Amino acid sequence: MRAYDFGPQHPLKPVRLERTVAVLNAVLDGELECISPRNATASEIGQVHDDELIEIVQAMSQGEDVSPEDRFAFGFSSHDTPPFLGMWEACLPYCGAAIEAAERVNAGAKRAFNIAGGLHHAQRHKSSGFCVFNDCALSIVTLKQKFERVMYIDIDLHHGDGVEFIFDDDPDVLTFSIHETGRTLYPGTGFVQDEGFAGTAFNLPLEPMSTGDTWLLGFSEIAPRIIDWFKPGAIVLQCGCDAHRSDPLGHLNCAVQDWLGAVKLVHDLDIPMVVCGGGGYDLANVPRMWSAAFLAASGLDVPEFIPETIPKDWGMTTFRDTTPNPEEWVGRKEMEDAVAQLKSRLR
Ligand SMILES: [Zn+2]
Repeated sequence: MRAYDFGPQHPLKPVRLERTVAVLNAVLDGELECISPRNATASEIGQVHDDELIEIVQAMSQGEDVSPEDRFAFGFSSHDTPPFLGMWEACLPYCGAAIEAAERVNAGAKRAFNIAGGLHHAQRHKSSGFCVFNDCALSIVTLKQKFERVMYIDIDLHHGDGVEFIFDDDPDVLTFSIHETGRTLYPGTGFVQDEGFAGTAFNLPLEPMSTGDTWLLGFSEIAPRIIDWFKPGAIVLQCGCDAHRSDPLGHLNCAVQDWLGAVKLVHDLDIPMVVCGGGGYDLANVPRMWSAAFLAASGLDVPEFIPETIPKDWGMTTFRDTTPNPEEWVGRKEMEDAVAQLKSRLR
């Protein structure tokens, strides 16, 4: 999974995966069951992506010449999702993990975590936003082999556009995404009125600079109502942690405890669930937030302090933020307006 690497200048750092596993191993003292996933196959990936995209990824992976027009058409650009040698092979483990995690849940596991997953921007016909293939969608199609209705919940800073669009004509897959508004942030989509063809897309966009109190209240006001209405048999929870106030890519101001409140809320509903990673670009945050999410989604206590065995230069001392956000309620009015629209849709 470390091989999924766009290079040293790129904000997506594979080392965040290793550090998360190190923190979890330190907390759980060897009790962590870590499964090496199998590679996904091209036909499995073809369940949610067009053959043309798979073929172009394979070609660029081998260093074949691909025209600039085709690169652009399939979503590859030098600064955002730059193609690299071995890219196809680098995608197969996280896609395989998405399928295997869902298979474990289909077989009766309450939780399975795909730590390298959460690449929610990839669309059926193109890669996008650091995401070559959409593992979230692969987990969903696999869960659908067992469960009639599957819900996708996305707490990443960015709109989960790829997952929404892949399933937007499927009434048995509901997508809910809370994110910074597309007016100010990539990918520029996910507005409150966007329902999808089947009417099963729900979006709660927040204003830039919205604080964690607004974020968690918005999530708590609408997510349980949607879940109660849709009654999913299984959930895929995308845990991008880039809504944190220190993340360099956006303009939301969540503390760890705000964001973790959403994970706990979903955990408490006791629905079988695949949990995956997602965005997160502050290396001093991602390992502690994902470890905390893993623990909370497993019903385990999140300790106060990062274990002493973790190197100090990783920049983490506590799991939660020690300076809580002041109660500012930035963006509350816009959030409440959006939640009111979503509630009236549910009615
Ligand atoms: Zn993101």
